[in-house]
Order: sequence, then C-alpha cells, then structure tokens
Amino acid sequence: MNAPKDRGLVIAIDGPSGVGKTTVSRRVAERLGLRYVDTGAMYRSLAVAANDAGIDVESDGALRAYCARVSVGYDASGNMLLGGVDYSGRIRTEEAGALASITSAKTPVRDFLVACQRRLGEGGGVVMEGRDIGTVVFPDADVKIFLDASHDVRAGRRGKELADKGGPSTDVSRKIAERDRRDTERKNSPLVAAPDAVVIDTGSLGIDGVVARVLEAVRGRAGKAARGVDNG
Ligand code: C5P
Repeated sequence: MNAPKDRGLVIAIDGPSGVGKTTVSRRVAERLGLRYVDTGAMYRSLAVAANDAGIDVESDGALRAYCARVSVGYDASGNMLLGGVDYSGRIRTEEAGALASITSAKTPVRDFLVACQRRLGEGGGVVMEGRDIGTVVFPDADVKIFLDASHDVRAGRRGKELADKGGPSTDVSRKIAERDRRDTERKNSPLVAAPDAVVIDTGSLGIDGVVARVLEAVRGRAGKAARGVDNG
C-alpha cells in the first residue's frame, strides 16, 4: 500500500513489552527531527482513567460511552492528556500495563484510539510506536520496524527499569509473559510483525546499534520521502 504523495514520513515501530521501543523511537525521532508518538501511553492512560471512573471494562457499551466523552490531547510541554488530565505519573507501573492490556483488547477502545492515532499521524512527520502501527494504524507507513528480543532479555530489562524508578519489580517475568499472551492472542489487532517490517533483534544489539539499524532502514526504504536524511 502506498502512502499519500504529499504526506511527510511515517515511521512505525512495533514490538512486545520490554523490547526497548520507547528509547529507540525517541532517539530516532530526535535524530530525524520528527514528532514522537507513544501509543502505549494512550492505552495506559485510558485504562487508568476508566478504572478510576469505575467503568465496567467487560461492557462494550459502557466503554464506548466512556470513549465518546473523553478526548486525547497534548499540553504545551508535549505531555499527553486524556480527558484533559495528565496521567503520566501513574502509568509506568506493571499494574497499569496489565490494565492496559485488558482494556486494549476491547473494540470500542481500539476504535477510539486508532482514530486518534490516525489523526495525529495523517500529515506525517512522525515516529509512532506501539503494537499495531505498521499493521492497522498505518499499514501504508513509509518504514515499518518490528523490534524483538527473547522473553528473558525483555523481563530482565523491564525489571531493572522498574527497580531504577524505585517501584515494585517482583514477578516481572510472569507479568510480562501474561501481557504478551493477551497482546498476541487477542482477536482485535493482535501483536504481530507486518510482513513488510524490518525485524531487529534488540537482545544482541545495544541501543546505539538498534538506532543505527532503524536509520539505515529509513534511508533504504523511505525512497523519495527520506531524501535529506543524512548518514549522521
Ligand atoms: O507499549 P506499552 O507497554 O506502553 O503498552 C501498554 C499496553 O497497551 C500493551 O501491553 C498493549 O496491550 C497496549 N497497546 C496496544 N496497542 C498499541 C500500544 C499499546 O494494544 N498500539
């Protein structure tokens, strides 16, 4: 599928949890002067907010009504706002991740957030990270990257990340396995690499190595849209 001619570059970066998507995506966006969009933060914020509001996540009707009355936006510093509230201080726990992986399997939530993500990326000039960016949100993305690593590598990284933040880091391996299972087995937009994605194993490369591979893929695959991207 071809991207609209006048659209700026759309780079889709997908992969499972703990694979290094956020660090890599931020760096790639910085290097290319593109906007970075973290779609996981949207699913996490919506899950925490719906939970606070006492929404029954097993009811599609309740979820659809809830999504109809909230909005996704950004404040002047670029912090994501859900219904005008910045949830960034509460979403980086494994519990919020687990809640997100439950609500993200629900069609009303995906319909709502995928539409928001398409609006955010419609003009291009974005690096968007998530689980389904190259398969569902922007199947016509100029460059699709799928980051992967073994379960043990990802659980180790996530455990260290949580411990560094001073939060609880017990049972991370089981929680990650559970979240992976929900994300890959759900009916709606399961986590899977797009057939035309460049797959990079982040277990064997350092962050710099992964960023270099992504930039190489951008130069190689973005064609006309990537003109002007230097080797930096
Ligand atoms: O990437 P992150 O770990 O922040 O995502 C949290 C959860 O949000 C994932 O486990 C997944 O269930 C959901 N998610 C999704 N689709 C995306 C991004 C995140 O379903 N594009």
